[in-house]
Amino acid sequence: MAFEHFCPECLETRRFESIFIEEDYPVKNEVITIDSHYYKCNECGELILDPENEDENYVNAYNEYRKRKNLLFAEEIVEIREKYDISQRQMAKILGWSHATLSRYETGALQSQSHNNELVLLQDPVNMLKIIERNKDNLTKQEYDRIKSKVKTMIVDHSSKSLYTVIENSFITEPSEYNGFTTFNLEKLINVIKYFLYRDSQVYKVKLMKYLWFTDFLHFKNWTVSLTGLRYAKLPMGPVPDNYDMLISLILNEDKLINREYIDFGNGQGELFTAFEDFDSSLFTEEEIKTLEIISKFLQPHNSRSVSELSHKELAWLETRDRELITYKYAEQLSLS
Ligand SMILES: [Zn+2]
Repeated sequence: MAFEHFCPECLETRRFESIFIEEDYPVKNEVITIDSHYYKCNECGELILDPENEDENYVNAYNEYRKRKNLLFAEEIVEIREKYDISQRQMAKILGWSHATLSRYETGALQSQSHNNELVLLQDPVNMLKIIERNKDNLTKQEYDRIKSKVKTMIVDHSSKSLYTVIENSFITEPSEYNGFTTFNLEKLINVIKYFLYRDSQVYKVKLMKYLWFTDFLHFKNWTVSLTGLRYAKLPMGPVPDNYDMLISLILNEDKLINREYIDFGNGQGELFTAFEDFDSSLFTEEEIKTLEIISKFLQPHNSRSVSELSHKELAWLETRDRELITYKYAEQLSLS
């Protein structure tokens, strides 16, 4: 990069070229070496700083020091504050610092190690809540209420997300004959469900479970792996995904485009499932889509009762004991192909 600029040595406008020179900068008690950026006069060799960005070299030296000492970068300090949706002034009050101090940090001044530690702690909403309590007298009642409620919401969201991960992980088991040697994949399962619900408007709980079971077992029969990685247990109504109720809550929570509605039949209630969009075919191989097509065609004409009768004729069902997991080994004898 080159440009025309007034040269303080030649006292005339000259052409300047960008060059880098290794230099030492004292930062706190350390010496930081960086490649300093200058512009050099083509005539006399005079060096000038970038007139548009005079602090450039100091900022780079500071950032090098930050990396070495594991200090937050200015942008990271801004991010913490923005995460909580509060102004610089409010953040300073919460920390018990002057507004000028925080403002300088956010524009690149080097923070002290102890101030850095306080900022790092504030990345966690639980700590944020504690420090708001500690310094609540610095805030107006309105500020205190608003910020506290925001932080509390963040804590709840965070913990429900980790609970969710725990639940999802409880469906992931070592590859075995019980999960069809496939690792459970929630996103894929959701899309298998969408596939069937989008093509069949009368899918109640029992039929949904049969769609899944026949899909996994047929896929295993043809390809020696299941499609979703679900484990199935023998229940009176037929083969059912293990921990079925937890699984359905997980799915309804994860994808708002799948819906469950309770329908009153007079002699009881049914759970009707619907999907507001079609499946994402990019998640599936051609063979998997073929399996879905076969099962869709096979089961669509059935209602919950006749579909249960179908599964009750299967060897997998007949030979497994009540409440036990069904091995995919029976897939070989599946009446469907
Ligand atoms: Zn010059």
